[in-house]
Amino acid sequence: MKTRQRTSIAHISKVHQFHPMPSHSKLLMFSSYNYRPRWLWSVLLLTIWGNMALTRQVGRPESSEPVQHLTSARANLTPGTLSLDAVGDILLDRGVAAQIQQYGMGYPFQQTRSLLSAADIAFGNLECPLATHGVKVHKKFCFKPDPATVKCLTGAGMDVLSLANNHSMDCGRIGLDETMATLRANGLHWCGAGENLAGAEQPTVLNIKGVKVAFVGFCQFLPEGSFLRDDAPTIAFASEEAVRRAVSVARQQADVVIASFHWGEEYYSLPHENQVQLAHAAVAAGADLVLGHHPHVFQALEVVKHQVGGHPRRALIAYSLGNFVFDAPRAWDSHTAETFILHCTLNRNGLVAAQAWPIYIGKCCPRPATGAQAQAILARLTELSRARHTMLRAGQVSLTSKLPEIRQ
Ligand SMILES: [Zn+2]
Repeated sequence: MKTRQRTSIAHISKVHQFHPMPSHSKLLMFSSYNYRPRWLWSVLLLTIWGNMALTRQVGRPESSEPVQHLTSARANLTPGTLSLDAVGDILLDRGVAAQIQQYGMGYPFQQTRSLLSAADIAFGNLECPLATHGVKVHKKFCFKPDPATVKCLTGAGMDVLSLANNHSMDCGRIGLDETMATLRANGLHWCGAGENLAGAEQPTVLNIKGVKVAFVGFCQFLPEGSFLRDDAPTIAFASEEAVRRAVSVARQQADVVIASFHWGEEYYSLPHENQVQLAHAAVAAGADLVLGHHPHVFQALEVVKHQVGGHPRRALIAYSLGNFVFDAPRAWDSHTAETFILHCTLNRNGLVAAQAWPIYIGKCCPRPATGAQAQAILARLTELSRARHTMLRAGQVSLTSKLPEIRQ
C-alpha cells in the first residue's frame, strides 16, 4: 500500500506541473500580446478563463485530457486528508471475459487505471466470484471467471472490494472461500464476506496516512441456491439490526466508517423506501459514507446531518453507483452505460468533500465522459439528487446547504 501511495504522489505532481492550462490558450496569449489594445487583452483573458472554467465543469473534448484534469485535483490534498474513489459493479465474466481474452487483463480499466491507482483508496463491488473450484448454482445469471482475472483489479489499483452481493456465492461457499483466498493472496481487501457470519459482518479497517477507515458490506438479497448460515463461509445480510450492530462496532475502531450495500431494483433510478431506511439506519449508527450498488443504473446522492460522539458531521449516501466494468446486456438502455466515480476527500473527522466524475462505459470499458455526454450524466444525477434535498454543482456535492437531519 505504501509503495503504491508514493507512486501516486509522484504521478500527481507530474500531472499537475505538466498540465497547467490548455496549450491552445497559451498560443493565443503569446500571439496576441504585442498588438492588441489593453481592454481587448482583458476581454481575451476573461474569455479564456471563462472557457477554462466551463471546460472544467463539462469535461474536455480530447480523450486523455479528462483523466489528467481529474487526477490533478488530488494535488490539493492537505496533510491528514486522503482520497477515496468509489465505483459500482465490477464483473469479470461473460462479455467482459470475452474482451479480456481478446485484449488482455489491462483492458477493462485501461481508461480509468490512472485515476483509480492515484486514489489513496479505490473501492468497488466485485459482482462475481473468482473461482476454479465450487459448482455453479442453478440460477439465470451465474458467473465463474478465472481467478487469474484478479490481475485486472490489482493492475487498476483497486484496494477494497465488497463481496456482499447476489453473485459472490455463484459457486457456493467453496467458490466464496476461493474468492477471499485469491483476494488475500493478491493484497486486496474485502468487506461483507467471511469464514462465518460474524466474520462477514466484521469491519475491514485500513490505516492510511494515520486515518483509520472502516468498511462494512451488506447484501439485501439472500444468495440463490444457498441459505444463510452463521457457521460457514457467507456474505453479510442487510437486516437493519445487523447494519446497526456492524456499523457501531466499526465506529469504535475507526475515524471514518463506510457502509456498502447491494440493494434496490435493477434498472430503476429511484431508491426504494427500504434503501432509504437502511441507509439512514447506517448513518444513525455512525456511517459517514453509504455506497450502494446493484440497480445497474445510478441513483441519487443524498447528504444528511448526523452526530458522532456529540460532534456534528455530514454523511453522504450514494444510493447506487451504477455499473462500472460491466457488459451492460441492456445495451439499448443507455442509462446502464452512464455512471460516475464518486471521488471523496476524507480526514479524521469524516467526509470533507465529494464529487461525481462522469463516466461512460463502452464495450465493457469505463472511460471519463466528455462534452454533452458528461453534461447529460451530471444533469441526471443533479436532478435525482435534488429529490433527496441534495444540491450538486458541476458534480460537486454541496456539504453546506440546508440539510435534513438524519431520521432516527
Ligand atoms: Zn447485483
